[in-house]
Amino acid sequence: MIDITLVNKFYGNFQVLTDCTTKVRKGEVVVVCGPSGSGKSTLIKCVNALEPFQSGRIIVDGVDLSDPKVDLNRLRARVGMVFQHFELFPHLRITENLCLAQEKVLGRSHEEAMAKTLSLLERVGLKDHAEKRPGQLSGGQQQRVAIARALAMDPVAMLFDEPTSALDPEMIKEVLDVMIELAQDGMTMMVVTHEMGFARKVADRVIFMDKGEIVEDVPKDDFFGKPHSDRAQAFLSKIL
Ligand code: ATP
Ligand code: MG
Repeated sequence: MIDITLVNKFYGNFQVLTDCTTKVRKGEVVVVCGPSGSGKSTLIKCVNALEPFQSGRIIVDGVDLSDPKVDLNRLRARVGMVFQHFELFPHLRITENLCLAQEKVLGRSHEEAMAKTLSLLERVGLKDHAEKRPGQLSGGQQQRVAIARALAMDPVAMLFDEPTSALDPEMIKEVLDVMIELAQDGMTMMVVTHEMGFARKVADRVIFMDKGEIVEDVPKDDFFGKPHSDRAQAFLSKIL
């Protein structure tokens, strides 16, 4: 589903990703963790073609991102992305936030987009808030809207970049619960998070990054059970 091979990326002279190689198979949930500045956000932005890379290959659902013929907008629609900050359109109602790209990018009729929107808002527990604007919702509710908005595009995979790290503790759970349900429904997911409870519950594998390298890429049980590289050990001792 997501095939990353020997990806190298530089910002000027600074190498931010070094020979990153991993695979996320259909239906797999992979948690990406590691210290600040290790390249986690950059890696998943590369997967969504939000950042270019200088060498290596990324293939998403059979589409080679380096192929100049690829329609990047279409690709971005097929891979849902949820960020730390929800990035909803503040002046639009929740329903409008969800309908916009369905109509503009996928060409759905308004009725079709609206039906999809309402069923997704129900799924994330926000049907009663459909006609509000983002500013009238809590952070946790806004993040659930952002997840619903990404799902409205019928993505083949979902990428999350620290979706709960800007939230107050009492709102973290409601967002994680939506993500856990999604994972259990079989969604292919790549999730940058330090929520190890989430990783323990639904991850298939855990990737640990440090200084732009994938240092560990192991099944969840190995990550939480077996001894690690010194770098992963030092990191884990800080967050667990
Ligand atoms: P965090 O846990 O703090 O979110 P991260 O693992 O997501 O960190 P990245 O945001 O991917 O790390 O950044 C990796 C490195 O690349 C950092 O050293 C960062 O300063 C650098 N970097 C990120 N974006 C840019 C940019 N647009 N221009 C130059 N350097 C950048
Ligand atoms: Mg980051």
